[in-house]
Amino acid sequence: SLIDRGVHYAWYHTYRPVGPQIHEELALTPAQARRVRQFVVDMRVKLPLGIIDAYYDGEGRALCPMATGISHHISPTGSVEPCPILQFATENIRDRGIYDTLTQSQFLKDFRETSARHTRGCIVLERPDLVKELAEKHGAKDTTLRQSAMAEIESMTPRNSQWLPTGEEIPEKHPVYRWAKRIWFNDFGVYQHLDASAAPKSKSPEPASAA
Ligand code: SF4
Repeated sequence: SLIDRGVHYAWYHTYRPVGPQIHEELALTPAQARRVRQFVVDMRVKLPLGIIDAYYDGEGRALCPMATGISHHISPTGSVEPCPILQFATENIRDRGIYDTLTQSQFLKDFRETSARHTRGCIVLERPDLVKELAEKHGAKDTTLRQSAMAEIESMTPRNSQWLPTGEEIPEKHPVYRWAKRIWFNDFGVYQHLDASAAPKSKSPEPASAA
């Protein structure tokens, strides 16, 4: 196994159906997203391997790394984008440096706050209409080489993301992950103005079994 070969950690990312060739059929359904979360939580206690994922706090509540301010993205040309799949920007890292851009950009702030008001999941997958609105409001530049970011956003069909129905959260079992996430990886209080009515509804009363 990879662990026998000395692998110490692994990243878990899930496919986002975005870009010029969208493959909806490869994206996770809500039940599959839950199974992946359960798998990661289970493997964290079972394997001698650090497993990193980006979508849940220690209590299993969904979060968006962009909305919480945990991360933004800098493109190869220096454009400062809300996140890797949000390829719009109003500033370049060369304009006023990384710290001032990340802490003072109205564009990034608006993206964080709008996202946090509407979903604990992914604004791109759930609300592409809001992405278009924000990009237009700020006159953001398309930072893709193909120059088709807006057309791609307009072609998207809203779908589920990592936000699971209330009551279906899967908390960390491993105490170290739980403790570490309380300090370094949680929502930092950004969801206090969240529209709770936007929460996904549970389709199955039975919790999904471990993958
Ligand atoms: S907007 Fe979506 S893809 Fe971007 S950081 Fe948030 S959850 Fe991830």
